[in-house]
Amino acid sequence: MHIGPDIVAVMVGVAVDGPYSYRVPEGMRVERGSIVAVPLGPRLILGVVWGEPKDSVAHNRLRDIAHVYNVPALSEELLSLVEWVARYTLTAPGQVLRGVLRSPEALDAPKPVVAYRRTGFEPEKLTPARLRVLDTLNDDMAWPRPALMGAAGVSASVIEGLERAGALEKLEMPPPPVVLPPDPEANPARLNPEQRAALDRILAIGPHEFGVALLDGVTGGGKTEVFFEAVADTLRAGRQALILLPEIALTNTFIDRFTKRFTARPAEWHSDMTPAQRARVWRGVLDGTVRAVVGARSALFLPFRELGLLVLDEEHDGAYKQSEGFTYHARDMAVVRAHRAGARVVLSSATPSVESRNNANQGRYHHVVLESRFAEASLPDITAIDMRVDGPDKGGWIAPSLAREVFAALDRGEQALLFLNRRGYAPLTLCRSCGHQYQCPDCSSWMVEHRFRGVLMCHHCGHEMRTPTVCGECGDAESLVAVGPGIERVAEEAALRFPDARRVLLSTDMGSHAQLRQRFGEIERGEYDLIIGTQLVSKGHHFEKLSVVGVLDADLGLAHGDPRAAEKTFQILTQVAGRAGRASRHGKAFLQTYHPDHPVMKAMVTGDREAFYAQELLAREAGGMPPFGRLAALIVSAGEQQTAMGYARQLLSAAPMAEGIRLFGPADAPVAMIRGRHRVRLLAQSGKDFDLSGYMRFWLSSAERPRGDLKVQIDIDPMSFM
Ligand code: ADP
Ligand code: ZN
Repeated sequence: MHIGPDIVAVMVGVAVDGPYSYRVPEGMRVERGSIVAVPLGPRLILGVVWGEPKDSVAHNRLRDIAHVYNVPALSEELLSLVEWVARYTLTAPGQVLRGVLRSPEALDAPKPVVAYRRTGFEPEKLTPARLRVLDTLNDDMAWPRPALMGAAGVSASVIEGLERAGALEKLEMPPPPVVLPPDPEANPARLNPEQRAALDRILAIGPHEFGVALLDGVTGGGKTEVFFEAVADTLRAGRQALILLPEIALTNTFIDRFTKRFTARPAEWHSDMTPAQRARVWRGVLDGTVRAVVGARSALFLPFRELGLLVLDEEHDGAYKQSEGFTYHARDMAVVRAHRAGARVVLSSATPSVESRNNANQGRYHHVVLESRFAEASLPDITAIDMRVDGPDKGGWIAPSLAREVFAALDRGEQALLFLNRRGYAPLTLCRSCGHQYQCPDCSSWMVEHRFRGVLMCHHCGHEMRTPTVCGECGDAESLVAVGPGIERVAEEAALRFPDARRVLLSTDMGSHAQLRQRFGEIERGEYDLIIGTQLVSKGHHFEKLSVVGVLDADLGLAHGDPRAAEKTFQILTQVAGRAGRASRHGKAFLQTYHPDHPVMKAMVTGDREAFYAQELLAREAGGMPPFGRLAALIVSAGEQQTAMGYARQLLSAAPMAEGIRLFGPADAPVAMIRGRHRVRLLAQSGKDFDLSGYMRFWLSSAERPRGDLKVQIDIDPMSFM
């Protein structure tokens, strides 16, 4: 399509309600999706040609498009995704577009590589350095300059001297691709019959068709192998594939597995990359040289033009929810994008979200089940340890029966894992004399002791103080006590009880991503006997020697009273228990709990997931909760609690009447203060067919705008709804 000739609408990549009209100068050709630079105020800014201008503006008052980049236009599918996301999340389309566009450096033509080749002419003056260069170039191949300098061990001036002498010819070669193309035929897995059947059902959705498959299979069931074959099928069909992982920065093993299967590394997309690396991947995705990407949730906004498959590994994972800036859930967004692109979606999990299970039950998603573990591996036996009768000795956190199992595993030369989903040493520091509790000055949360670092730290804002030795309130010197366990405290107990075991402590604050990746490698190689860790160890890892898993506080996630608490707890317990016995060893998992009769613990022990999902869905339906209803939250924040509360009340009184809408609040948000800002929440609930985004937009546009230091944050589909 060629719009024009003269005026087009351009969406600029800034948070404004665009698009704006611009003139297309003589001789410039643009189409919908063309990436351009346009003047906005005093600056030049990146934008995208959106289409015909909406309203007629006098021609002579418009400014010219400054530049059109020589890259393929963004796909129609991506443009409509931007519009959809903007509308759904109540965000300015320009702001969403900013998340799609990269720096201009990604748009300029990739720089050619300078290379040299021999001309055949031999200069008279031949120093040893010059000879080494000529020797290196013996076979008439052209060598890129840095490679040549390295191989011959010379500086650039030696090479340039030879060029001036007429012995070398300077060439410009196209830059190498970001990654080599993955080869779908390289190392296909030999799927067992169950895996084969699962793959066939996924592939029954054609490579140019929209459809969602929920790949619902036990941990270690070989789901990864199955969706790799779906990737291969997509590549064969000439389409691009995107695999999303919840914690990509920590998952070397996944990249390695991909590389083995396809004999080429996938392009990666995550926060550990430099801007230059990102620019290259972005460009490669747009011009089609990149065929497969493994990335974090933001990879959903990469400029694919031939997207044929989206995989979300561990689709239930909370990391898929973006909660800063504009809030979106990658799972929903993947389905929306795939629908527009005519692509397949594979949602993979051993513990699918209640939402996805419901979609499968209703027949909206294909429910593809893997029942058994791959090869000789079997699912672990799960036992609840009733802490009321079999609890640990005073001052300890590990029950005697669990300790015995750990000893037995160590004796057999196997690995054991002690799991507690809480970083630090103790969640609370308390003065026994005056009762003072250490709280963050800026947040409504306790200061968590991190003993290795000698600090108390707020897990909401990162505020730190040196661990006090005397009570800051009453001055008593001997009265401060650590209350409750964190993972460091478990490590301390483990050191006393299992002194001969080679132990490793893993939580996100125990090192850089690179260091943590190294630890995982060491565990896989069997360099440790006892692993002590937080949620970090529960995901995706395959530790062959691990046979015993102990969860020290299985009730931890249930305490919040959040209606999603049961689901989240069930998921994390299943994931962590599933680390045991993934190879031929039989695994056992132990859950220390004060509520062995809780439905979650029962489902874990009996292995009856179906009963759990059925009950959870019934409870959600009865409460009109997702996926049977919709929710949206407004978080009003301000420096003073009254200011926030006052404005929230004002908002509530301005709420339009609508049938089927229920409003809750204002009330203090679950975290009532963060970084010195008081937070008050309003919650709107509707039936599932109601346009709640539209309602919220109408509500906010009819209310008085927030002034002063007031801020309103909108969260459509909030993940926690208490
Ligand atoms: P999941 O993703 O369901 O947790 P994985 O795909 O990681 O399971 O498989 C578990 C283990 O079994 C892995 O070590 C994997 O390499 C192996 N495996 C699974 N399927 C096959 C297969 N068809 N051929 C060879 N090995 C397989
Ligand atoms: Zn804080």
